[in-house]
Amino acid sequence: MMNELISRDIHTLAAGLQRKDFSAVELVRAHIDRIRSREADISALITQTEEHALARAAEADARLAGGDAPLLCGIPFVLKDNICTEGIPTTCASRMLADYIPPYSATAYARLQEAGAVLLGKGNMDEFSMGSSTENSAFYPTRNPLDPIRVPGGSSGGPATAVAAGEVPFALGSDTGGSIRQPAAFCGLVGMKPTYGTVSRHGLVAFASSLDQIGPLTRTVRDNAAVLSCISGPDGQDDTARYTFAAAEDLFSGDIRGITVGLLRFPGDETDSAVRAAIEDTAAALAERGAQIREVTLLALKDALPAYYILSSAEASANLARYDGVRYGARAGSAGTPDELFCTTRSTYFGPEVRRRILLGTYALSAGHRDAFYLRAQNAARRIRTAFAENFAVCDCLLCPTAPTVAFPFREKTDPVAMYLGDLFTVPASLAGIPAISLPCGTSDGLPIGVQIMAAAGNDGLLYRLAAVIEEVHA
Ligand code: GLN
Repeated sequence: MMNELISRDIHTLAAGLQRKDFSAVELVRAHIDRIRSREADISALITQTEEHALARAAEADARLAGGDAPLLCGIPFVLKDNICTEGIPTTCASRMLADYIPPYSATAYARLQEAGAVLLGKGNMDEFSMGSSTENSAFYPTRNPLDPIRVPGGSSGGPATAVAAGEVPFALGSDTGGSIRQPAAFCGLVGMKPTYGTVSRHGLVAFASSLDQIGPLTRTVRDNAAVLSCISGPDGQDDTARYTFAAAEDLFSGDIRGITVGLLRFPGDETDSAVRAAIEDTAAALAERGAQIREVTLLALKDALPAYYILSSAEASANLARYDGVRYGARAGSAGTPDELFCTTRSTYFGPEVRRRILLGTYALSAGHRDAFYLRAQNAARRIRTAFAENFAVCDCLLCPTAPTVAFPFREKTDPVAMYLGDLFTVPASLAGIPAISLPCGTSDGLPIGVQIMAAAGNDGLLYRLAAVIEEVHA
């Protein structure tokens, strides 16, 4: 019985809970057992919340007995460890926040709790979300559950691994330049970065505030839409949260006739041939179902990677200034002037990638270099937004790989720039604030390949409509 509860989708489990085939406490216990048997091999989690989860599961059972519980009532989940949880550590996988226990909860987490979902743990990540492999965690790397010599992707590698390994049916990650979509691709999951402003950032530890979005990692497209419905919508604590997503049933009718899909070619693209072939096959399958395919090249995207790394690092250098040894986080020593405290604290407790980004961002914003770097990057981002807007006037959505390769082995990318180049396909949607989803579309040597679909801002539903068809083709 217990094994039947593992690696199932949310809708199947919710139906079982409503029918009383099993209780929420049984469901949570089955997942706690799974975590106990898998964690030693994969290290997906930084914190486990067993006791909290069992208490919450008992409450969910009481609510389920009442008969009108929401879909997520009693369903276990994991949060990336940059999403604040009142009374539960939130470390950002950084030594700087190793002892931080937030006095409040993120809005997205509060909404899951209101729906009765049950937090089982906090997922490992690249420190402060900077990275694409989870190798930048200050604590330990997370292993890809499909092949332990490979990375799970990043920066939401822990949450993705927890779902892929059957530790929970869903997780929330955050995505600034691909951190939900790329780990979803590497772990064979559905990962959604909603339109900027769909999920409140209140309680999400800031990396680059103009790009950061929370979103779901799930086994199925329908599950993903259900979780996004629960967490989306305006929030008095975050003025940028202004869209509401509601998963209407007709999204999953399978009808995509007449939808125009642009097969997006990138300047400077060196994608693996197996990945490229899987994307072409996906486009062909959509055409068979009545979509119209056309080739699209957007020249403005050639500047997307440098613009993203300059803008995100500039914002990070400002956002991370609060870790000064006084107001937040750890403090190195107690002697010296405030300036000395600032410098020793930051060089002691920030890892190398975080320090690199702060240096890059501070340089890009400094008086003598602002025009050459920050303002040029802003202009490039504006050209990218315009190019997307012009495209979406004639084409409903765009299709491309999520990443140029499948999951790569640990320590393959020791040069930071080699790591950055892997983000080629995911950063444009972040700079434009548009929704983008990744889901499996085939395999190469047994490892999953992810296809990414993008649409105009507010068209998150269209992504689910197309994704549901791709999912069915590969079922
Ligand atoms: N890999 C990208 C980076 O390192 C994106 C990270 C993210 O989306 N948080 O910045």
